Amino acid sequence: MYSKETTCVHNQQQQQGVNTPIFTSTANRYMGYDEILYPRNFNTENQNAIVDKLCRLEQGEAGMIFSSGMAAIATVLFSFLKAGDHVLFSQEIYGGTVKLIEEEFPKYNIAFDFVSSADIASVESLVRENTRIIYTETPSNPLLSVVDLEAVSAVARKHSLISVVDNTFATPINQNPILLGIDIVVHSGTKYLGGHHDLCFGAIVTSHRLKEIIYQSALNFGGSLNGLDCYLVERSLKTLALRVEKQNASAMKIAAALQENPEIATVYYPGLQQHPNHEVAARQMKGGFGGMLSFELEDVEKTEAFLNRLQLIIPALSLGGVDTTICQPSKSSHANLPEEERLALGIRDSLLRLSVGIEDAADLLKDIETAMKS
Ligand SMILES: *Cc1c(COP(=O)(O)O)cnc(C)c1O
Repeated sequence: MYSKETTCVHNQQQQQGVNTPIFTSTANRYMGYDEILYPRNFNTENQNAIVDKLCRLEQGEAGMIFSSGMAAIATVLFSFLKAGDHVLFSQEIYGGTVKLIEEEFPKYNIAFDFVSSADIASVESLVRENTRIIYTETPSNPLLSVVDLEAVSAVARKHSLISVVDNTFATPINQNPILLGIDIVVHSGTKYLGGHHDLCFGAIVTSHRLKEIIYQSALNFGGSLNGLDCYLVERSLKTLALRVEKQNASAMKIAAALQENPEIATVYYPGLQQHPNHEVAARQMKGGFGGMLSFELEDVEKTEAFLNRLQLIIPALSLGGVDTTICQPSKSSHANLPEEERLALGIRDSLLRLSVGIEDAADLLKDIETAMKS
């Protein structure tokens, strides 16, 4: 087996070209062929090339690629659930996933609980007779809490639950949930895997057995990715390790510097010794602590002016790309939450979430410090 850097670059498939040829055909000859080739059958060469690479990066047996992260997440959940089932979710998960659960599950009589994943003991006490899935995300958005994945997988195994982890923030370069006993990894490829703010896709990696179940539902839900975008994903993956390693290093530098800055009240970054889950993070994020960090200005009144004064860093939604972006979760990703709920999650107006890109870390830091001072 090769290192992740090498795996990102090289395809295992034997083909003449260094890159997989773009295959866009939706009508394909069937006579004399065993398999019906069709994009929504998730079986084109472009789809297979990406899946093969992601499986090797995530150390899983099988995978699939989807047209968005939400298509991947919705397909995984609905392929295992039926009326009367119950699911445990951690509290701090992606807003779109929360919306899916709260708006769709009641229509199908699927019950759920949101629990603080920091407290694995309380998670176990909420497992019911009909609980089927335990679903978490680490590091979380936007406070970068770290969930102990070995503890989650232990609870899942004990109660025969399917464990699912959204590994979007960590990327397979930094963290491999399957090696920690997790059953299914999901990704919003729109973020780090794509990495250039120009692609929307999702992915899953799991065992052969679970993939077969997900695959049968995926054929019905139809969230496949087209050949042209697959080609761009394949190109993006070649630089994934390179990008993430740079983002890890820059985020660490920026987090450490911001922590010393008197204008800043708190920094949230799992790589800092002071982070409440640093020990767990160091144990399970073997590749690095990621490119996401959050911080709060000492003076909340200055937040908007600070964002306006940034010259280099772009106030924008989404994350994980080569350009550094920043957002104020209370006014963007979490704006629809009632204030009370938002504050209960620890998301105050003063909180800013930074997605560190691949620019020079010193330039980024200077941009932040200048905007804070003036
Ligand atoms: C963006 C995101 C998603 C949703 O992915 P889309 O590609 O936008 O559908 C899911 N999980 C996390 C952690 C995300 O950041």
